[in-house]
Amino acid sequence: MIAATAFAGKKVAVFGLARTGISAARALLQGGSDVVAWDDAQVRRDDASSVLGPGVTFADLAAIDWTEIAALVLSPGVPLHFPAPHEVVRAAIAAGCDVIGDVELFFRARRANFPATRLVLVTGTNGKSTTTALIGHLVREAGLAVQVGGNIGTAALDLDVLDPDGVYVLEMSSYQLDLTGPTGADVAVWLNITADHIDRHGSLSGYVAAKRRIFDGLAQNGAAVVGMDDVHGVSVCDALRASGVRVNPVAVAHVPAVPGVYVQDGVLFDALSGDPQKVTDLTRLTRLPGAHNWQNAAASYAAAQALGIARGQIVAGLESFSGLAHRMEEVGHVKGVRFINDSKATNADATARALACYDSVYVILGGVAKAGGIDSLAPFFPRVRKAYLIGEAAMAFAETLDGRVAYQQCGDLANAVAASVRDSAQECGAVVLLSPACASFDQFDNFEARGEAFRKLVSEHAGKCVSGSTV
Ligand code: ADP
Repeated sequence: MIAATAFAGKKVAVFGLARTGISAARALLQGGSDVVAWDDAQVRRDDASSVLGPGVTFADLAAIDWTEIAALVLSPGVPLHFPAPHEVVRAAIAAGCDVIGDVELFFRARRANFPATRLVLVTGTNGKSTTTALIGHLVREAGLAVQVGGNIGTAALDLDVLDPDGVYVLEMSSYQLDLTGPTGADVAVWLNITADHIDRHGSLSGYVAAKRRIFDGLAQNGAAVVGMDDVHGVSVCDALRASGVRVNPVAVAHVPAVPGVYVQDGVLFDALSGDPQKVTDLTRLTRLPGAHNWQNAAASYAAAQALGIARGQIVAGLESFSGLAHRMEEVGHVKGVRFINDSKATNADATARALACYDSVYVILGGVAKAGGIDSLAPFFPRVRKAYLIGEAAMAFAETLDGRVAYQQCGDLANAVAASVRDSAQECGAVVLLSPACASFDQFDNFEARGEAFRKLVSEHAGKCVSGSTV
């Protein structure tokens, strides 16, 4: 655990006591702050109290005297600007307090206490977790000490303190970036932008502006790794170059990127020094399927390169990466049909990337839709043999598909899997894909629970096949 020392001897308010709030409160106590904390949910306060012990005072932050407070550490999910700042945020700002997140406490602790470690940050609309995990894996395989966390897995302040030259790799959401100042990162990775989380940021430009904070305060000699496959990446790259930042562009859709790193026909090229050199054939990497994963692999290559890892070590690491659960994860076969769990596809762009991997596919869609629904998937409709619709979005998705794609209203995942098993039976080589283009909250706690339910259903159907009964 990392002690948050930035406010030693001062009183700090922590609002929101889920994973990162508890982590921040604990780190602040350890760093010598007085902590006053609150969460509107009694159950969270009870949990926090049992984890944190008597050192923390619990008080409704809407009703405290803010003149005594040095900073507000806000849970990333609490409205900061849109649709309106939360009343606790307004109170803190009115009193002149810093409003920051747990990751900002991490940045400050690192700068003050272990500045010789290195820091890699990763953001983007899609691919953050895969890329963060992959960079972590490349660093580890190169024999360096590494800690991976942030928006994935372990909260930043719950990571271990590393010795000099150890590397932190943190996934950063736009919500978290909204609550940070200068990062001090050695490498900042920007993958891609499509419209998402507009409710939180007010507009696409608000979302992009939050993401751009990843480049604030890059370390001297730091590098920006920028995905060039959408207009936002191109304009970020131009702006960074104009301000003298070292940029390693990464391109998959519009190639070649010279100087830069690019993927052409599935082959990764390093043209960072201007002269393109073939690195490896990414189509061999079954744990990183599809052009979207080539973007992740190319960005991870560029980041590892910026850390000084040798090309041969990076290639070995790309080859040994085992992939992440719930992202294009093959979870089983039923009668020769492959079942792919892409439950993490919570927006249409992620689903588009999954559909692009198959010429012909049965797909399960639905849940809580994002703005625009699945309209943007139209170019992929000819690839869809049949769609199985579940959850809240099912009626709206049916309207989009009507007359263009065969579909079935299934209500829930169990019915959808059963129907897809029936329809695809005996079609050796067929693929059933769970890539819902939706959040999961209407029927599941989170995307992981949805993916696990899919895995279980597939294995039950596979079991029935093995025992000879029909499905
Ligand atoms: P994030 O952490 O940004 O949500 P993940 O790596 O968890 O990203 O992947 C989320 C979803 O997006 C998955 O469905 C995955 O298949 C898809 N995806 C992964 N990488 C990319 C990418 N570079 N571009 C578009 N979609 C991607």
